[in-house]
Amino acid sequence: MSTVPPAVAAALLAQPHPVCAYVYDLDALRRTAAAVRAALPTGALLLYAVKANGDPKVVAALARHVDGLEVASGGELSLAASAGAAEVVFGGPAKTDAELAAAVTAGALVHVESPHELRRLALMAGDTGVRVALRVNRAGAGLAGTHRMTGVPTPFGIDEVALAEAVTLARDLPGLRLVGFHLHAVSNNLDAVAHAAYVADALDWSVATARRLGVPLEYVNVGGGFGVDYTGDKRFDLDALRAGLAAVQVPAGVTLAFEPGRFLVASAGWYAAEVLDLKRTHGRWFAVLRGGTHHFRLPAAWGYSHPAAIVPVDGWSYPFPRPEVRHTAVDVAGELCTPRDVLARDLPVDRLRVGDLLVFANAGGYGWDISHHDFLRHPYPQVVVIGG
Ligand SMILES: *Cc1c(COP(=O)(O)O)cnc(C)c1O
Repeated sequence: MSTVPPAVAAALLAQPHPVCAYVYDLDALRRTAAAVRAALPTGALLLYAVKANGDPKVVAALARHVDGLEVASGGELSLAASAGAAEVVFGGPAKTDAELAAAVTAGALVHVESPHELRRLALMAGDTGVRVALRVNRAGAGLAGTHRMTGVPTPFGIDEVALAEAVTLARDLPGLRLVGFHLHAVSNNLDAVAHAAYVADALDWSVATARRLGVPLEYVNVGGGFGVDYTGDKRFDLDALRAGLAAVQVPAGVTLAFEPGRFLVASAGWYAAEVLDLKRTHGRWFAVLRGGTHHFRLPAAWGYSHPAAIVPVDGWSYPFPRPEVRHTAVDVAGELCTPRDVLARDLPVDRLRVGDLLVFANAGGYGWDISHHDFLRHPYPQVVVIGG
């Protein structure tokens, strides 16, 4: 069973009962950002993909530790502006006119996803010379990972076979300055050696394609996708990434941009919930939490058991014995009225009591932000920020 850092446990024990909280550690964010930067080639642009965790304090902290923010909606765009991001890049296949106008006003670099979007952006751009990178769904260039975005049919980017036409359009439209390509390909890839090879290939492809289509190449964004192994002990090996990227030649005048989300935030977040009840039905033990998948959806969405640690809570105020289980395995269920509200199955416990806390590490990315908060209208978790 994993352990909980003392500062996280202390922060949780100071919360009102029943405890239900996310804890974000700003020092951990800083350390991870520094480690990622150290693995990237000198001069690379490190952006944070805000959708992984849009908590304003997390975003503001990361805005100080990375070179800029990648946003995918008008909401994230205004968050990035209030976080004081030095650089903002704006992507996503469903931008509205209002969002495009806001991006122009904010001076963002826009990752354009279709010819129609190019035309709409040009209408908004006036004579600002808004920087544009074309997002490309390449013919090949798959990478293993949980979600593939390119090399397969997806709503993301411009099909490589239609790229020449889009480049011509971008060049002919007034108010736009075509600077390069955006090639985000995958999420949650755990193989850093393969990732470095993907980056090298993306850069080669970009240089060759820019030459072929007459694009003055200034910017190649290879996206995010650095993975986190939630259930095992594999890790995205930054040393291997650095070694792999050391061989990559970034041409003079080209900025190589990375925009990880998950990896920058996952390890800086914990989700914790108090055990409200323990019960046994049809031979299985259940721990029922003040919390659940409406706060932390990832295990249910991906169909895995998220490892959990116990923070014991002493003190018992009821005038009857405290329920507990010993040396057994429990299924960890939430407070929603659906049998799918399960965060972990067969969690081995030495001792677990009503009133103890279950704490889920690596919950800082795609945790709260990706969950369906209002299902059943339970109160939201506390958000506790430590460090910084
Ligand atoms: C989600 C996303 C990212 C971040 O992906 P991670 O897997 O969290 O690193 C980066 N770029 C784009 C375009 C995205 O949609």
